[in-house]
Amino acid sequence: MKEPTEVEGVLVVGGGYAGLHAARAVHRCGVPVTVVDRTGRHDFVTRLAAVAGGTAPVEDASGPVESFVDQVVVGTVVEIADGSVTMSDGRTITADAVVVTAGSVPSRPPVEGIELAHAIRSAEDAIALRGSINRASSMVIIGGGATGVQLSGATAVAHPSLTIHLVEAMPRLLAGMPEAFSSGASRILEGRNVQIHLSSDIERITEQGAIVGNSLLEGLVVWAGGFSASAQRYGMPTAEDGRILIDEALRVLRSQRTFAAGDIAAHRDHDGDPLPMSAQIAVRAGSAAGRNAARAVRGEPVQAVDLRQIGWVLDLGARRGLAQVGPVNLTAPGADLIPPLLHDAIDLKDLLEIGGVHALRYASTSVRSLVTWPLAVWPLRTSPTVRAVTT
Ligand SMILES: Cc1cc2nc3c(=O)[nH]c(=O)nc-3n(C[C@H](O)[C@H](O)[C@H](O)COP(=O)(O)OP(=O)(O)OC[C@H]3O[C@@H](n4cnc5c(N)ncnc54)[C@H](O)[C@@H]3O)c2cc1C
Repeated sequence: MKEPTEVEGVLVVGGGYAGLHAARAVHRCGVPVTVVDRTGRHDFVTRLAAVAGGTAPVEDASGPVESFVDQVVVGTVVEIADGSVTMSDGRTITADAVVVTAGSVPSRPPVEGIELAHAIRSAEDAIALRGSINRASSMVIIGGGATGVQLSGATAVAHPSLTIHLVEAMPRLLAGMPEAFSSGASRILEGRNVQIHLSSDIERITEQGAIVGNSLLEGLVVWAGGFSASAQRYGMPTAEDGRILIDEALRVLRSQRTFAAGDIAAHRDHDGDPLPMSAQIAVRAGSAAGRNAARAVRGEPVQAVDLRQIGWVLDLGARRGLAQVGPVNLTAPGADLIPPLLHDAIDLKDLLEIGGVHALRYASTSVRSLVTWPLAVWPLRTSPTVRAVTT
């Protein structure tokens, strides 16, 4: 049995959206913070459909956690108790408070052959999938939610000759979002020759493709049918869906100094309705959990947190997307040019929040091209030397 390592202040499990926002909030409260992460890399998950599909480069997929936080431990946490965590190599770390933000994993329904399907949840998954798509001539994406729709859109843009089937069990795409999203997504994807199969259940997955009804849809199969937290594996109290049960201050039930945020936590809005797994919720819940963990360390009372999903912003590639922000719906032709800009703006805002201006080197390629575009054009107009080189 190895001696426990003690860290001062707050230990954050997971260096994703919730984790890095929690770490930043703790730091701002003047309390020391350490992040333990499985890979030591912060995945920019909302960019991964573009990376896998081929409209963004692999460099956009992730950045080192140590660029955002001073104290980082690379390791996989397997057990969490109140104020301590144990890792797969037997190391135990104790802290004054813990914030659990270990995210979610692709759900694996009891479908024969599911292990043959690719998934897309981490930068590693996205880069592996990108390589397989480059070698494929057809593809079957199972799940017409946000992940499946964004992946279909990006892949169809980067690989226009690829046959893409998008299979959804419900009668419309993006069933959890407003009706206008479904028609907008169908319009954009059909315009790119994506074959959409609604009200269609997968019977089986084989080496050749997916069996839907009695037909074989041939191609590389990707499972984009949802995610689960499976937090029971850490010994945490969980809801039926495997997300950690928390109180209104995001503190894990029956614990004093352990908080949870992001996909792994059973967040609810003020009416008690479950909130979806989204980066938007992860960012705000992470910051709030970090502040409450810092308060707990300083012996101050923790505060109730009011969370709500304000809207949705999806990027379907080729400067088209879908968004609902409060009452404003941006899904119609023409208006659908705005959501990709919003997607980039949110990405940039999150980056600045977790790392300040130094983090700008991890800005997505599309953001950098927007920022550097005026600089690139200006010398062309004024400098004959640059003009000569570039023409
Ligand atoms: C392809 C795709 C596109 C998406 N697009 C959008 C979008 O456009 N807008 C939106 O709002 N949401 C989007 N989402 C959902 C959103 O990305 C997630 O809700 C968000 O990433 C959740 O943040 P998190 O911090 O809880 O988890 P993550 O960001 O996944 O972070 C979890 C971290 O924990 C680490 N970790 C996991 N297990 C362990 C362990 N045992 N020990 C130590 N570390 C561990 C991981 O390495 C990771 O760094 C998308 C999701 C996917 C898959």
